[in-house]
Amino acid sequence: AKADGRGNFQFFAREMDTRMQARRRLEQDLRLAVRTGQFELYYQPLMESGAGLSGFEALLRWNHPERGLISPTEFIPLAEEVGLISAIGRWAMQRACADAASWPSNLKVAVNLSPLQFRPGLAAEVAEALQACGLPASRLELEITESVLLQDDDAVLAILHRIRALGVRIAMDDFGTGYSSLGYLRRFPFDKIKIDQSFVRGMTEQADCLAIVRAVIGLGRSLGIAIHAEGVETAAQHQALLREGCDELQGYLFSRPRPASEIAGMVQRLGI
Ligand code: C2E
Ligand code: CA
Ligand code: CA
Ligand code: CA
Repeated sequence: AKADGRGNFQFFAREMDTRMQARRRLEQDLRLAVRTGQFELYYQPLMESGAGLSGFEALLRWNHPERGLISPTEFIPLAEEVGLISAIGRWAMQRACADAASWPSNLKVAVNLSPLQFRPGLAAEVAEALQACGLPASRLELEITESVLLQDDDAVLAILHRIRALGVRIAMDDFGTGYSSLGYLRRFPFDKIKIDQSFVRGMTEQADCLAIVRAVIGLGRSLGIAIHAEGVETAAQHQALLREGCDELQGYLFSRPRPASEIAGMVQRLGI
């Protein structure tokens, strides 16, 4: 049994070593990617209920020279851990604003922000990105998750207020997956709530998901906050969300995220 245990340990140690090496290699690759510009933004349509296409959400992709496209769920946590997210996030904001400036003027762009980007210079960075390409602030929306507000300091709220004073809208992403979402709605006046995909996915089969979606839409209506549903994949979900009075929709039903070069085609297909 003793030998067995040791064998297991050696196996475990080797396994850990391999994983550490893979992580270290990915980190080196990520640093190189920041220096040489291996990132790309994909865009997914935002559909306003009854009114059609209202804009696009920018979603990061990493074009790894050997591994191909890498998902943000894989490299963003690493970028946050090793201090690269600020540089990547700044690039994404500038790129998204520059892209949006070439779209029809009634289309907005939504950009995701990492909690780690919330530092004193953020509002100035946003203002600069807008100015550099002449995009009106009203065409930019920033998506943040509750974890930003978990930091619970007035500094974060001050930054949010400064960004909003520019005329940029702020949306709360992944609503319902965190802790005290309702308290956050009191502390900061969000312009939009994005109901998490998990509720949308369940709403046509599970009564509790439908009840939650309905309640969030009611909450939005009484607080004057627009409600957005993400992860809409089926016509049944689409119909149910329209029936409940959801303001904006997004999901594979309309389109998967696509490269910037396909914006014109999506605009033509989905209409404005
Ligand atoms: P998110 O902000 O909640 O973005 C929505 C994710 O759901 C995207 O995944 C999108 O491709 C996917 N999605 C959209 N519609 C559907 C659908 O109908 N069904 C399903 N199953 N999925 C759908 P993606 O592009 O892999 O991004 C994952 C996450 O990575 C994002 O979640 C966001 O948290 C993060 N992320 C992406 N781009 C950025 C960025 O520029 N900055 C930061 N900080 N985070 C980003
Ligand atoms: Ca988002
Ligand atoms: Ca989300
Ligand atoms: Ca998410």
